[in-house]
Amino acid sequence: MTIEEIRPALEAIVGAAHVLSSPDGPRLVVRPGTTDEVSGCLAFANRHSIPVVTLGGLTGLVRGTELFGNVVGISTERLNGVLDFDPLRRQVTVGAGIKLEEVHRFAERHDLRYGVNFGARGSCSIGGNIATNAGGNSVLRFGMTRANIAGLEAVLADGRVLSDLGGLVKNNTGYDLKQLFIGSEGSLGIITKAVLKLSRPSVDTASVLLALDSLDDALAVMSVLELKCGVSLLAMEIMWNRYFKTAGALALRGSPLPLADHHPLYILAQVEGAGNGPSAEDLVLGALEGIDFIPDSALASSQAQQEAFWSIRDGSEYIEASHPTVLSFDVSMRPQDYSTYVAGVEDALSRRLPEAISYYFGHLADGNVHFMIAHDNSIDHADEIIEACVYETLSVYWPSSVSAEHGIGLEKAEHLWRSRSEEEIAVMNAVRKTFDPNGILNPHIQYRSRLD
Ligand SMILES: Cc1cc2nc3c(=O)[nH]c(=O)nc-3n(C[C@H](O)[C@H](O)[C@H](O)COP(=O)(O)OP(=O)(O)OC[C@H]3O[C@@H](n4cnc5c(N)ncnc54)[C@H](O)[C@@H]3O)c2cc1C
Repeated sequence: MTIEEIRPALEAIVGAAHVLSSPDGPRLVVRPGTTDEVSGCLAFANRHSIPVVTLGGLTGLVRGTELFGNVVGISTERLNGVLDFDPLRRQVTVGAGIKLEEVHRFAERHDLRYGVNFGARGSCSIGGNIATNAGGNSVLRFGMTRANIAGLEAVLADGRVLSDLGGLVKNNTGYDLKQLFIGSEGSLGIITKAVLKLSRPSVDTASVLLALDSLDDALAVMSVLELKCGVSLLAMEIMWNRYFKTAGALALRGSPLPLADHHPLYILAQVEGAGNGPSAEDLVLGALEGIDFIPDSALASSQAQQEAFWSIRDGSEYIEASHPTVLSFDVSMRPQDYSTYVAGVEDALSRRLPEAISYYFGHLADGNVHFMIAHDNSIDHADEIIEACVYETLSVYWPSSVSAEHGIGLEKAEHLWRSRSEEEIAVMNAVRKTFDPNGILNPHIQYRSRLD
């Protein structure tokens, strides 16, 4: 079908005002406002084998929302309401297009909190978070998005609606189908609603920034904080020197950094107080007492100070904007393997692409390092060389993953085999075929084995 034939059919489903041309012109983007409209769009697309790509907040880092060929974009932008709230069970039902930050605001207004949190909170959607099983800064305490979902509604490729919005804690009646959509990157259906688990907020929090000389020291501090703070430990992030220095200068806009910028590593940990027990500040100071290998540290207990500390950790976008090309990586491994792995990547880069500038940071306790590796487009095949340095070095580590949090998208598909067996990839494709026999949903995302 031509775009001229598709447009009126979609306009009849969602209204003319909600069928737009893609920013680059040749493709359509539809903005359904209800589950029924999503269902109508998909049933139509499926009947005519029109490929669709689901668009959430567009903050994904693996090119999962790329529009190409005759694809139609289906945006969840208008599915953005708070639909139901159950204060007793502390669950909120939302439309998939609602922004993560809106959910935090809603929770705060009801003296609750939502456990998933990270730098893109102002733009990313809950549907996108679910589709990518997003992690973030609080996985240590609240788990990945999967652990925060109590119910889901999704529309299948043929327009059927699978709805499991009851939010029951226990329901062992056959397969828990909603789990399949979490992390499916839009390949099994379009998520239209979700029931999110909320929890009681912290009475008080404190964040501590620690300078450290080595990864072994960082891991030793991590063990102490985990042991002494227990569930009060909300987050423990790590930044290597260049990331701290650069993101810090850009995020704080020239205001002095909380610590001198010459240390090899920095840990940022956040702790909450125990309510009627010790305050967050007392807890973290007590836990760190007696550790004699921390060269420098800074404590933030006010909200404003803590936000300043966290703006450094969440400042990757500033780095991204300050280079012509930046490749992002998101690898997972045992924390005890970080040190040799990062050194291995640095060594490979220094031999094969000394012009590259690399920034390392990540979620220390989750075994998840993010790399941003920048180049100035002056070297041929720089992207390929950088990918080889990162992934070839990774291949000797087990367990490891080429995508800890960000998904596969278009970008990581060719590396999937490094983290998944032939058998796993075959079963993924069989599940996909069952949900979407015509292959219309996000067809650019392919689960490929090494042999394909
Ligand atoms: C500054 C910054 C910091 C980040 N930090 C983190 C981090 O710490 N942890 C982390 O995990 N990620 C992080 N990300 C990546 C990104 O924000 C997450 O992957 C996020 O969950 C994507 O949500 P989105 O709404 O923007 O999805 P999009 O980018 O719009 O889409 C992502 C994928 O999900 C699919 N999709 C979107 N909505 C739906 C839906 N309703 N139904 C079915 N499929 C859908 C899309 O087709 C696509 O394949 C960061 C990104 C930025 C820019």
